[in-house]
Amino acid sequence: MLKSVIFDLDGTLLDRDASIEQFVSVQYDRLTEHLSHISKIDYITRFIELDCHGHVWKDKVYQALVTEFSIEAISWQLLLEDYEMRFQFHCVPFQFLIEMLNELKQQGYLLGIITNGRGQFQARAINGLGIRDYFDAILISEVEQVRKPQVEIFQRALDRLGVAAFDSVFVGDHPEADIAGAKGAMMKTIWKRNSSWIEAKEADAIINELNEIPSILKQFNSC
Ligand SMILES: [Mg+2]
Repeated sequence: MLKSVIFDLDGTLLDRDASIEQFVSVQYDRLTEHLSHISKIDYITRFIELDCHGHVWKDKVYQALVTEFSIEAISWQLLLEDYEMRFQFHCVPFQFLIEMLNELKQQGYLLGIITNGRGQFQARAINGLGIRDYFDAILISEVEQVRKPQVEIFQRALDRLGVAAFDSVFVGDHPEADIAGAKGAMMKTIWKRNSSWIEAKEADAIINELNEIPSILKQFNSC
């Protein structure tokens, strides 16, 4: 019988692309007195390109923006600080997030998150989604000093939940960091389809939406 479900955050629970787009749009409006020589669409588009789906940290992104757009009235450090403090207010969940978490909780599952990223920033994003209290263990790579797909971070999450790998499922959108990583830790895996990748060959199941998870867990339990 499965006992726990552990999730990736960005691109799995948090619709990061939608969140970033909303944040950058609001940032432009809020700081428009410093940015008005740039068109809003250019500012948003270039940010999203430089961000590379979150794979480039925002110090690099803002340094590039300041140089490319000749921004002189505000420093990249202040733009970065604005991002670090305010992204949390623009966290967009994927559809069915709360319904799915409620259903799994009602069924008695222990829930966890393993996310690669900066400690305080990722913690704020989890709070921004309003889901902190659903989780029995939250592991952030900067805090843990180990990252997905390294098996150690999965093993550490299982230890904190007090469950065995074969009683646990990992849900994520990255074929390598999430699916291959969790497989390496001997967990069952669910790949949340993401247009950045064609497939995740090793996944035990594939979903498009979060509300498909409870029925897949039932299938796993009946195997
Ligand atoms: Mg992800």
